[in-house]
Amino acid sequence: DTDINNLVEEFLRLSYHGIQAKNKDFNAIFTTEFDPHLPKVEVVSQDIGRVVLNLINNAFYAVNERSKKGEKSYQPTVSVSTALYSSEVKEGDTGKGKTAVPDSIKITVKDNGLGIPESIREKIFQPFFTTKPTGQGTGLGLSLAYDIVKAHGGVIEVNSEENKGTSFSVILPLA
Ligand code: ADP
Ligand code: MG
Repeated sequence: DTDINNLVEEFLRLSYHGIQAKNKDFNAIFTTEFDPHLPKVEVVSQDIGRVVLNLINNAFYAVNERSKKGEKSYQPTVSVSTALYSSEVKEGDTGKGKTAVPDSIKITVKDNGLGIPESIREKIFQPFFTTKPTGQGTGLGLSLAYDIVKAHGGVIEVNSEENKGTSFSVILPLA
């Protein structure tokens, strides 16, 4: 039984301090929104922790790269949230007698970084695919994340817009 809020917070702190230590100019702000009513879930916490850590590291990297472009008044921001989620009813689809019974939890990592170009969107989950310079990325993070989440019966959703940002959501079934 894992308290996902605790897990996410632990890895968020780890990632933030790691990046701050390597990068003196690091000035990203991060916000969190944890659903206090999140039930505990049965997961391999070490594995889900790695997934979250990779998503957060990717997000910090993306905002850090964008801030190097020197855009005026750019504030690098990473937001992490947890929520109960219903995979049955899509967002905005409330009426028509359907009741959204939560059957999953959703962990979302959102950044306002570089975004993912349409041309590579298909490749990001492939092992060894990376756009980072040698030594900075192995290209294994998202591939591993995909396998771990799949093994838990969950899915990963991506939304991204170039020069606006990216949002990754991990959806894990409650049962
Ligand atoms: P790595 O971080 O080692 O490059 P990943 O599998 O974690 O490998 O990510 C693969 C690629 O997906 C990254 O190199 C990058 O091009 C893209 N990517 C992942 N997350 C983000 C993000 N938050 N913003 C922009 N691009 C991203
Ligand atoms: Mg990565």
